[in-house]
Amino acid sequence: IPEYAFIGRSNVGKSSLINMLTSRKSLAKTSGRPGKTQLINHFLINEEWYLVDLPGYGYAKVSKSAKKTFQKFITQYFALREQLVTGFVLVDIRHKPQPVDLEFMQWLGENGIPFSIIFTKADKLKPKAIENHVEDYKNILLETWEEMPNYFITSSSKDIGKEEVLEYIDSLNANMVLD
Ligand code: GDP
Repeated sequence: IPEYAFIGRSNVGKSSLINMLTSRKSLAKTSGRPGKTQLINHFLINEEWYLVDLPGYGYAKVSKSAKKTFQKFITQYFALREQLVTGFVLVDIRHKPQPVDLEFMQWLGENGIPFSIIFTKADKLKPKAIENHVEDYKNILLETWEEMPNYFITSSSKDIGKEEVLEYIDSLNANMVLD
C-alpha cells in the first residue's frame, strides 16, 4: 500500500491538516502543545493509501536528546521507506524560509526522496502576502534546485487546499497502478 508522509516543524499545523484531509476529527488529535506528536502514526485512507504522520522536528523547547531521537526516527523512516511515494513538507506560510526546513528539503533531495511543500495557515495572510512568501521560497529553492517543488497552499481552519492535496495523491496512486 502506497504511503505519503507528512512532516514539518512542531506547531506548523500538521495535526490540523491531517484532520482536514481525513475529515475524521478523532484520527489525529490537534494539540495546543507543540512537540506533542512523538511517534509515527499510520492512517489508512479509503483502504487505498497510508497517511504517515511523522514527528515534528526542530521545536526549540525540546531537549537536545529528544531532538536527536526525533532525527534518528525520521532518518530511519526515510531510509526504509519502501512504500513511500512522496513526502509532504509542511511550512507555515507566515514565516520566511527557515534554515531547518530548507536543510530538511536539501536532505530529502540528496537522498532522492520526492517531496512536495504544503504551506499551512494561509488564512492568516492576504493573497498578496501569500504570493510574496511563496516567491521567497521559490527564490531560495531555485538556488539549489532546478525547479520549484510541487506545492500546495492550505488552511485547515478555512478548509483550503484539501481537494488539491487529495487529488494529487489520487493521481500518483493511479499512475502507480498503471505502472
Ligand atoms: P502540529 O503541532 O504541527 O500538529 O500543529 P497543530 O495542528 O496542533 O496546530 C498548531 C496551532 O496552529 C494550533 O493552535 C492550531 O489551532 C493552529 N492552526 C493549525 N492550522 C491552522 C490554520 O490553517 N489556520 C490557523 N489560523 N491556525 C491553524
